[in-house]
Amino acid sequence: MSTIRFKAFEKAIERTPLKVEEKTSKRSQIFGINVFNDEAMLQSMTKEAYRSVKDAIQYGKKIDRKTADQVASAMKEWSISKGATHYTHWFQPLTGGTAEKHDAFFETYGNGKAMEKFDGGQLVQQEPDASSFPNGGIRNTFEARGYTAWDPTSPAFVFETTLCIPTIFVAYTGEALDNKTPLLKALHAIDEAATHVCQYFDKKVSKVIGTLGWEQEYFLIDSAFAESRPDIKLTGRTLLGHSPAKGQQLDDHYFGSIPDRVMAFMRELEIEALKLGIPVKTRHNEVAPNQFELAPIFEEINLAVDHNALLMDVMQKVGKRHGFYVMFHEKPFAGINGSGKHNNWSLATDTGVNLLSPGQTPMNNLQFLTFFINTIKAVQDYEELLRSAIASAGNDHRLGANEAPPAIISVFIGTQLTKVLDELENVTKGKLSPEEKTELKLNVVGKIPEILLDNTDRNRTSPFAFTGNKFEFRAVGSSANCATPMTVLNMIVAKQLKEFKISVDEMIEKGMKKDDAIFNVLREYIKVSKKIRFEGDGYSEAWQKEAAKRGLSNNKTTPKALEAKTKPESIALFEEMKIMSPVELKARHEIQVEEYIKKIQIESRVLGDIALNHIIPTSIRYQNILTENVKGLKDIFGNEFKEIAKDQMDLIRKISEHIGAISVNVESMVEARKKANNVEDIEKRAELYCDKVKPYFDKIRMHCDKLEMMVDDELWPLSKYREILFTR
Ligand code: ADP
Ligand code: MG
Repeated sequence: MSTIRFKAFEKAIERTPLKVEEKTSKRSQIFGINVFNDEAMLQSMTKEAYRSVKDAIQYGKKIDRKTADQVASAMKEWSISKGATHYTHWFQPLTGGTAEKHDAFFETYGNGKAMEKFDGGQLVQQEPDASSFPNGGIRNTFEARGYTAWDPTSPAFVFETTLCIPTIFVAYTGEALDNKTPLLKALHAIDEAATHVCQYFDKKVSKVIGTLGWEQEYFLIDSAFAESRPDIKLTGRTLLGHSPAKGQQLDDHYFGSIPDRVMAFMRELEIEALKLGIPVKTRHNEVAPNQFELAPIFEEINLAVDHNALLMDVMQKVGKRHGFYVMFHEKPFAGINGSGKHNNWSLATDTGVNLLSPGQTPMNNLQFLTFFINTIKAVQDYEELLRSAIASAGNDHRLGANEAPPAIISVFIGTQLTKVLDELENVTKGKLSPEEKTELKLNVVGKIPEILLDNTDRNRTSPFAFTGNKFEFRAVGSSANCATPMTVLNMIVAKQLKEFKISVDEMIEKGMKKDDAIFNVLREYIKVSKKIRFEGDGYSEAWQKEAAKRGLSNNKTTPKALEAKTKPESIALFEEMKIMSPVELKARHEIQVEEYIKKIQIESRVLGDIALNHIIPTSIRYQNILTENVKGLKDIFGNEFKEIAKDQMDLIRKISEHIGAISVNVESMVEARKKANNVEDIEKRAELYCDKVKPYFDKIRMHCDKLEMMVDDELWPLSKYREILFTR
């Protein structure tokens, strides 16, 4: 074993679970203690200031400077009492992670004296050095000016010794430079559109929020292994490595008992998360070895998105303490299931109704059907855009790779609801007869809650499935920021609801009764959105063919998927719904394409380096040992050696063949990279990286993995899958 590999292995097996101190066994007592929530605000602010923050949250009202000063002062006192010494505007730049720039409260004011200072100005707006964040060419770097602005809808919190203030990040010219700004706009759009539609059913509804419950999948490996392997360290995944003799064939990991060390990590993580107000609830093993999942109780979307981004940071930090490296990559290991982040999505009214949950009365259920069917239609009309919202180099390994949902977007609703839609579709066009209406209300719409109660059919292969009281968007990648898919989903449903209202109102104006009008429009929608509905096996060959026949997109790679974003109709939609201007959309598209190129480029370089500097030299060393052995045998056995040393000589030849193949392929890959780099147009460059560079990965890997099985285990330099995946 190489020294590095040996040390990593030794470190990993010697680690013991950390003791996690828990002052209380009641999780509810620590929930939100580090969050500047309602309770903290009420205790530290005047009623007027509190009211004004609440109005900002609920109705988007502006907070005046005087109030901002009051809020800042209260926040400062509160956070210092929690141990904070610094504050930061916390935001989500387009790099995908989170960013912060810490400033001390500490300020001097002459005479060698100092005080802690934090005022409304500092709370409301800051100017980070925007030049180091991707902006897609919106601003030239020499005038790189952007600012962060307080988002009062997501509460401030103290993490470690810093007061973190969630903010948006925009250029001085007004364009969004982050993930949150368009999300907030999409949430506003869905609020407006859904509230209008709710008015058909209940005049008391004055606000609709989107809800999101994400399920975060991840791998945990000992950090010593991550350190020992350049591929994991630099790309977040393994670029080579032979499958272990025991993989996930036995299915014994899923819901199996959680190892002690992992349990200790999870417990500390949960405590940290709960303190930050992240309502984590479930934890369990996943299908693959060393794979786990964490899910919270669902929350309002903006908050849920922030909480997911924050949690991913906290996971890395807590992981480090426990000697773990948390892998968020969608496909860290070949031959083993990848990771996703299911986005459970629904809409809720300020009257406490889940709009995707069937209710007690036929009227409630007509409302449910309205939102249910409109969502299906939205997904159908904008399936390609929705696919583009989950595109990334990492997620390409999942989608279309026969394990996760396919790259084809479709909607699964289950046999019972399929029946309901079939019946609705057959309703007479135009005005319904009283009998028909009664029949519909009592026997079709009225029976929905009962049928859903025993609706146990689930389809794990569907990328967008209705699961009783919410849709579950399963194609989102584990490393993604949920803001992107949530922005698109809420935007398209908002657009669809807007259309729906226009159509229904038109019919009402022509003298049709409201219920009749709603039934009529829904019936049409059911008819025209059939092609997106699919109840079968999403992984099957047959579905690929069927989907193609139906005209659904099947964009298997990121460059292809991203094209949908800049189609004229997409640009128009983003503009019409006031989510992003054409400039913002194009800038974002450019950033994503560039990110894709960079990711593949880095992977290609790392793979080339490992192959040339680790794999080939090691293989040659082993070959030399074999050669010595053959020479020795010749000395001893004379002419007979050919028979005796047959296997060794065979091996020497095979090793040479693999080494040769690696050299040739790495060389060609570098050539392909050079060619791609010379292409000015970034979309073309991305395509070249995808179609001409990436295919070498599998070829090179195949030869390296073969060598791994030939070369003496003692010599092999890289930690092997069996070590990485089964050490606790
Ligand atoms: P599973 O999908 O494993 O059966 P659950 O049905 O309990 O699990 O829900 C999974 C996730 O869906 C959880 O994060 C949960 O909070 C979330 N969820 C439940 N109801 C809603 C809702 N109305 N809106 C958004 N997310 C929801
Ligand atoms: Mg799920």
